[in-house]
Amino acid sequence: MRATVMFGAGDVRIESVPDASIIEPTDAVVTVTRACICGSDLWPYQKMEQSENGRLMGHEAIGIVEAVGADVRTIKAGDLVVMPFAFSDGTCVFCRAGLHTSCIHGGFFGTPEVAGAQAEAVRIPLADGTLFVLPTGKDDALMPSLLTLSDVMGTGHHAAVIARVGPGKTAAVVGDGAVGLCAVIAARRLGAEQIIILGRHPDRIALAREFGATDVVSERGAEAVERVRELTAGFGVHSVLECVGTEQSMHTAISIARPGGAVGRVGVPQEQTIPGSEPAFYNNVMVGGGHAPVRAYIEELLPDVLEGKINPGRVFDRTAGLDQVPDGYRAMNQREAIKVMVKP
Ligand SMILES: [Zn+2]
Repeated sequence: MRATVMFGAGDVRIESVPDASIIEPTDAVVTVTRACICGSDLWPYQKMEQSENGRLMGHEAIGIVEAVGADVRTIKAGDLVVMPFAFSDGTCVFCRAGLHTSCIHGGFFGTPEVAGAQAEAVRIPLADGTLFVLPTGKDDALMPSLLTLSDVMGTGHHAAVIARVGPGKTAAVVGDGAVGLCAVIAARRLGAEQIIILGRHPDRIALAREFGATDVVSERGAEAVERVRELTAGFGVHSVLECVGTEQSMHTAISIARPGGAVGRVGVPQEQTIPGSEPAFYNNVMVGGGHAPVRAYIEELLPDVLEGKINPGRVFDRTAGLDQVPDGYRAMNQREAIKVMVKP
């Protein structure tokens, strides 16, 4: 089969690789009907050291189950399924607590252990716990929004949950990438009254406004902090949704939280330390977050997608076949595209 392989920074190729197949009796094999390129794929795209074997990329997909192992009970061939970016058994102590990304038997797609989904097919470990069967056809008009349930919409929602967004509260979203835009949707959905987006790309800002952002701050650093204070009677916001992961974005996020506020961080950190220790301490700001347990959120978010109450699929502004995936990475990296949907 054909699959996307990253060999190093800026070096993405479509290669012939061994077919996805059942290895463990709890596996399924899914033919990918939709996948996408993630903002987090851009970190290795910018930094990965050259490697001979490369890394099979992709951790977001919808597809049709082709085959299941002997121990798979609830998933069957022919099911249309969404695949969260992490696989999980659904039964361990952490899965039962809703933290599927810490599943003691789980792991992540697009890693050295498990191949990626920017491919014609993908092997799904722990299929019963991992996959979620969709009640739609494979070419349903809602497909882009359903695809965001595999990562970006669930991740934006996680930022909102950790940041304790609630009715009548003020919120700020740091970052205007696909996750940041979904975080705006999530903040509005959970009742935030004022939603400030921190970003500087006009097309993304326009979409953020349609999704419910009430204010825009395009400055950076100390100026951005100042602007947010001006917009919030000098206090800062109750809830900060950090969707970038750099030192500067984290420092800004912590600095714009009001006393007693919370930062929900979902941007993959690019530094070992969290900046902003002093403002966090002196303002009693809670800083939390991490890998979003998107599997836990599908059940909650799916009805709103099916009813058209939220439309996160609008973050996709480009569609690519497998052959165009390398150019899709380039386009996202150069901020020509917000998020690329892949139709293998
Ligand atoms: Zn588990």
